Amino acid sequence: MIRELDAVTVDQIAAGEVVEKPANAIKEMVENAIDAGATHITVEIEDGGISLMRVTDDGEGIAPDDVRRAFLRHATSKITQINDLYSLHTLGFRGEALSSIAAVARVEIITRTQDELSGIRYCIEGGREVLYEEVGAPRGTTIIARNLFYNTPAREKFLRKPQTEGSHVADLMEHMALSHPEIAFRFVNNHVDRFHTAGTGDLKENIYRIYGRDLAAAVVPIDCEQNGMRLSGYLGEPSVNRGSRSYELFFVNGRYIRDKVLSMALEEGYREYVMQHKFPFAVLSLTVPTDEVDVNVHPSKMEVRFRRVRELSAFITGAVHEVLSGREMLADVLRDEKEEQREGLLFAEENEAERYAIPHRAEPFEQMRIVQTTKPAEKLYAYGLKETPFIMSDSAPEPPEHQRTEMTTADQPATDPLTERILSETGREEYRILGQLFDTYWLIAYRDRLLLMDQHAAHEKVNYERMMKRYHEHAVITQLIDPAVVLNLTSAEYDLLQGFLEVFQKLGFEIEDFGDRAIALRGIPTDLYGAASGQTLFKDILDELSEEQLSDRDPQAVTMRIAGMACKASVKGNTPMTAEEVNALLDELLTLENPYHCPHGRPTIITMSKYEIDKRFKRIVD
Ligand code: ADP
Ligand code: MG
Repeated sequence: MIRELDAVTVDQIAAGEVVEKPANAIKEMVENAIDAGATHITVEIEDGGISLMRVTDDGEGIAPDDVRRAFLRHATSKITQINDLYSLHTLGFRGEALSSIAAVARVEIITRTQDELSGIRYCIEGGREVLYEEVGAPRGTTIIARNLFYNTPAREKFLRKPQTEGSHVADLMEHMALSHPEIAFRFVNNHVDRFHTAGTGDLKENIYRIYGRDLAAAVVPIDCEQNGMRLSGYLGEPSVNRGSRSYELFFVNGRYIRDKVLSMALEEGYREYVMQHKFPFAVLSLTVPTDEVDVNVHPSKMEVRFRRVRELSAFITGAVHEVLSGREMLADVLRDEKEEQREGLLFAEENEAERYAIPHRAEPFEQMRIVQTTKPAEKLYAYGLKETPFIMSDSAPEPPEHQRTEMTTADQPATDPLTERILSETGREEYRILGQLFDTYWLIAYRDRLLLMDQHAAHEKVNYERMMKRYHEHAVITQLIDPAVVLNLTSAEYDLLQGFLEVFQKLGFEIEDFGDRAIALRGIPTDLYGAASGQTLFKDILDELSEEQLSDRDPQAVTMRIAGMACKASVKGNTPMTAEEVNALLDELLTLENPYHCPHGRPTIITMSKYEIDKRFKRIVD
C-alpha cells in the first residue's frame, strides 16, 4: 500500500540531510543570524550541542505573523522563484533549516523586530507547536534547541561523543568568524568562553584571536582582482604549512566552502613552497558574481559549482604564486621560545636534520621589504636593517665564463626588487663561502648570518628555472645521447608515459617508441645533461610520476611538475662540487625569483643569525 507521509515524518526525513549533527544545526542558525543582518552573534552549546544549542543574534528579528511560518518546510523570506538563486545575497534559501531542526529537537525561539513593542516566544517540539506567547525581548532572535534527536533514537546513535561533536562546532565557529570579520562572534562551550571576535572587520585580528600569535605573525595579505573575481585574505608562509587540508579555508561570497578545485588551485600556487604531503594555511575570501556560482548543489550548502572554473583556478593559482614569489621567505633556524624550552643543545639531537628541513618563521631580516627608493635603482632601504642602504649598481656582476647561459644576470629586469636587493655588488661580494659540510651543505657567511645551502636543492632549483625559462621562450635545447638508451618499461610505466609523452617532448626529451613496451631515449633537456645517466634519470622520473595523480591537473601545472621531477632526478646523489662550482651555483641561484625553495618545496638555503649563535653560547641571555 502506498500512502502519503505526514508532514512531521517528511520533515524528519529532510532533517537527515540538513541536520546530521549539532554543527550542521548551528551552521544553519548562524547563517540565519547573518542573513538577518546581525552584528553580534553568540553561540552556546552544552554536551557538544546534543543537550543544548543556543544562538542569539541582534538581527532584524521575525515579525509575529511570520514566526509560525518560519518553521514550515520550504518557508523562506529569501527567494520567491528559482532564478533568485542566481542573484542571491543571503546564505539561506532552502527554507528547510528551521523546520528540520524543529522536527528533531525541542526548539524555543524568542524574537522581536524593531517595529514591535513586544516579542514572541514560540516553542515547537518534534515539529509540534507547544507554546506561542507574547514576551518582552530585546531586538533580535534567540533560538534554543534542546535534546537533539530525542524523538529519532536511530539517528541519535550516529552522534559521536559530545567532545567530538563539540569540536566540530568549534571548527565551524572559527570558520564563521573568519568568514565574517565584520560580525562580533562569541562561542561558549559548556559554560566556558572559547573565543570571541571583535567584529571590527579586521581579518588578521581574527586570525590572531583564533589561531594565535605565531600564526598571525606568519601570514601574508593577498588581494587580487580579475574579470569580476576577487581573491582576498591571508596566505600562510611556508613555515606554517600544515599536515592536512583543514586549514585551507575558502569563503565564496561569504559562505564557507570545501571545494577540490579551489584547494588544488591554491596548492598549485604554493607548489614551490610546500613539501610533498604538506598543505598551506590560507584564509581566503573569494567574491564572484552571484550568477557565476551555483550554490544549490548540496543540502548543507558546503559545496558549490562554478561556471568559469578553469579561469577561476588559473586566477587563484596566479594570484597566490604572485604574492608568494614577491615575498622573501628564507627558512630560519631560529626556533620560537616554546621549542627552545623543549630541547637541549643545538647539534646534539638526531632529529636535528628534520628540524632544519622545517622552515621557521622568518626574522625581520628575512622579511625585509623594500620600502623606499630614494633615487630609482640607487638606494634601497629595508625593514629590519634600520637605515642601512643597499647600494645599487646598474651593472650586475658578470657570471663566470662557463656559467653564461641565457639566464645571465644581465637579462634580469632591473626593476625586480628581489633581484636588485641580493644582486647588488655589495651584497654578493659579502657572501663568503666557508666550506662544505657532510658532502651536501655549503656554509656561507653573509653579514651577521650563517647561511647553509643544500647543494642538491639549489642545483635542482637552478636547473628547473633554466628549463622552464627555455620552455616558456620556446627555446628548449635537447642534448642528444649517443648511443640512445633503450628502456624496457612495465605496462603501467608505458601507459603512464604515453599520457605525458607530449609534455616530455616539449621539455626537450626525445623519446622513440621501440615497440613491445620498449622506448629509446635519444635526447634529454640540455640542463639535465651529464648529471645522471639517462637511464636512471628517466626511471626516477617515471617512479615519481607514478606516485602522483597528475591527470586531472591543467597542462601547465603538469609540465611544471614533470620538469620539477626531472630536475630532482638529475641532481640525485652526492655529486662532489668544487668551491668554484658552488660560487657559480650561488650566483645563479641568487638571480632567481624564489631562490629559497627547490621545485619540491624543500628549502635551498637556511640561515642562522649571529644573535642566535651568540644566544646558543650564552653570550646573550634573555
Ligand atoms: P532559509 O534561511 O533558507 O530562508 P530557514 O528555515 O533557515 O530558511 O529560515 C526560515 C525563515 O525564517 C528565514 O527565511 C527568515 O525569514 C526567518 N529566520 C530564521 N532565522 C532568523 C533569524 N535569526 N533572524 C531573523 N529571521 C530569521
Ligand atoms: Mg536558513
